[in-house]
Amino acid sequence: MRISHTTVDGEETYTHDIPSFGLGVFLMSEPGECKSACLAALRAGYTHIDTARAYSNEHEVGEALKESGVNREDVFITTKLRRMHAVGFEDVLEHCQTSLELLDTDYIDLYLVHAPPEDMDHRAPVWKGMEHCLEQGWVKAIGVSNYGAHHLESMREYATYLPSVNQIEVNPWLQRPELRAATESVGAKVMAYSPLARGHKLDDPDLIEIANRLGCSPAQVAIKFCHDLGCITIPKSSREERIVENLASLGVDLSDEQEALAAMECGYISGWDPTSEP
Ligand code: NDP
Repeated sequence: MRISHTTVDGEETYTHDIPSFGLGVFLMSEPGECKSACLAALRAGYTHIDTARAYSNEHEVGEALKESGVNREDVFITTKLRRMHAVGFEDVLEHCQTSLELLDTDYIDLYLVHAPPEDMDHRAPVWKGMEHCLEQGWVKAIGVSNYGAHHLESMREYATYLPSVNQIEVNPWLQRPELRAATESVGAKVMAYSPLARGHKLDDPDLIEIANRLGCSPAQVAIKFCHDLGCITIPKSSREERIVENLASLGVDLSDEQEALAAMECGYISGWDPTSEP
């Protein structure tokens, strides 16, 4: 998939190819857990890893990259500016440099503001800092996460480059057609986090029924649902057999299950939801 940044004049710039499927590494807090999951994913054929400063494991992503022997340009690394660090222009530059050091890499493929800065006065200078990182080549693309439609719309007032991605929770229980459309209207792609609703809903009888009809696992149905919506999809697992299973979900055909999947929407938020904040 191709991502780009739309300027206020409607021009597309700083385009970059992004794999539409990747490994999420949130809640891998045991020492070595993230590194071994990344190594398993790279062995299985994953080409995209989604980390964040807040996950305290960027260094393990970097170690896995080095140890795997995979060429840097063959892996796409997304990381995020921690919300508590999103307070000003200089802060962004400093934290971007720290992430580069922790990841032990010359560039980050995609750098996201983890959530809208709580102080509204910080939103413009933080984004200006992100744009500086892009212009310097420290990062190949910039974006946001957990931005609601109103947060995205107000970026038109201060952004030179609109975001290339908005990473939000999307899964069969939280389908978000309006927020996905609002994301696309600023030229950004949707990245679906918590495609398994953090594992909370894998015993949903409707999901299990679909999986049984198709002869695949419930997790594979939920993951493929997000991918079929056109979302970059980043399920997390620390277990090698599930890492392999989750990638294989891309081969599942959900075309006869559209109605059953649409009916699963229930507005379930599995973790936090800053998209509804002011
Ligand atoms: P997911 O929806 O990916 O679910 C992960 C849970 O499901 C874990 O408990 C995992 O357990 C379990 N699981 C994974 N695969 C399977 C399977 N095949 N069968 C059964 N259970 C399975 O949750 P996340 O919240 O981690 O979301 C994915 C990624 O999205 C994160 O890791 C992070 O990168 C990103 N994210 C971003 C957020 C943001 O604010 N921007 C917020 C939340 C997530 P186990 O590991 O034991 O397999």
